[in-house]
Amino acid sequence: VSAPWQGRALTVLGATGSIGTSTLDVAARLGIPVHGLSARSRIDELAAQCREHRPAVAVVPDAAAAARLRALVPGQRVEHGPEALDAIAADPAVGAVITAIVGAAGLAPTLAAVRAGKRVGIANKEPLVMAGALIMAEAARCGAAILPVDSEHSAIFQCLEGHRGHEVAELLLTASGGPFRTVMDLSAVTREQALKHPTWTMGPKITIDSASLMNKALEVVEARWLFGIGPERIRVLVHPQSVVHSMVAYRDGSVMAQLGRPDMRTPIQYALTFPEHTAGPVAAPDFATLAALTFEEPDRRRFPSIDFAYAALRTGGAAPAALNAANEVAVQAFLDRRIPFTGIFRVLERVLALDHGPADDLGQVVAADQRARILAAEGL
Ligand code: NAD
Ligand code: MG
Repeated sequence: VSAPWQGRALTVLGATGSIGTSTLDVAARLGIPVHGLSARSRIDELAAQCREHRPAVAVVPDAAAAARLRALVPGQRVEHGPEALDAIAADPAVGAVITAIVGAAGLAPTLAAVRAGKRVGIANKEPLVMAGALIMAEAARCGAAILPVDSEHSAIFQCLEGHRGHEVAELLLTASGGPFRTVMDLSAVTREQALKHPTWTMGPKITIDSASLMNKALEVVEARWLFGIGPERIRVLVHPQSVVHSMVAYRDGSVMAQLGRPDMRTPIQYALTFPEHTAGPVAAPDFATLAALTFEEPDRRRFPSIDFAYAALRTGGAAPAALNAANEVAVQAFLDRRIPFTGIFRVLERVLALDHGPADDLGQVVAADQRARILAAEGL
């Protein structure tokens, strides 16, 4: 690997998840040594990863999980608790961190990696939605390189290379449209239907977010902070084939697109090897067999989520953090069969209408997140 952090090791936060396992696959192929791995559950899988990738440290939530992991992998150094998670993100032996925890739980270790000046490949988008301004400011202050792993943002990042923000007319964020793109009545759709994504295989939370288009809403906010481009210049386009991962329209009418197969190993690898594209396991799309690439406007009436994101950005302060927190509560309630699918939108609308205050420091963000969780749960 010719990356500037060559010689130092990789930490994967949330190693047992969909992004985490893909990251370890990429790292093994590139011959990158692993410093830290973390998981919240699935200790057996984490044990197998420890045997295969030999991390210096493995981090689990509590002492009981740590004892289990030690029993499964004798000799493995195991730590537990939130400070241990921050420590594997910030360790001097670490050059790059891939954030693959799901949800707000990733905020503290993401910040720890940023403040330690790492190359931080961000898959875990929720912290950027909650505290994007703070995270980007800290990255500039501490010399961290933030690289997108989210496929759309990796695409935009690539389309922007060598260009400046003032040249950009619009960021065109593509969305598959999810499993309900053509379902006119969403009132009776089930958990099982929502968990069947047409083009991507992912963890349960982001799969539900993709079905509600809340994933795209979160990605609008993510793009706003990653690229420093105002929401009025970010547009969502539905592209069911998930081949064009996103585009940048420039002021002269020229549009750059990044294309690829729907395999997260491509953007994960680029976050690790940037500025080089190196050999990898994913082939380019076979254009001769691609039937068609189509684009359409999202249906904002059936899927109000995208408008929620723009509204939260307009309000500013802690509104995006509150929207994210309410969504985490609503998605869990839907997965637990406590609310119907459209109940997610009702929770979000209600919480977004409230005042969430400023987000000038981390304390305010965390307080708004916690308050929004309570408010969201009250109305379930
Ligand atoms: P996942 O559910 O498959 O995996 C989550 C990982 O984080 C697991 O290792 C789990 O043990 C750990 N984890 C979960 N909750 C935790 C907590 N409270 N504290 C510590 N660790 C915890 O999720 P995923 O699909 O891999 O997604 C991870 C992140 O990447 C999400 O933010 C998602 O939006 C983003 N993302 C995923 C994809 C994808 O293709 N899966 C694509 C783009 C972005
Ligand atoms: Mg995405």
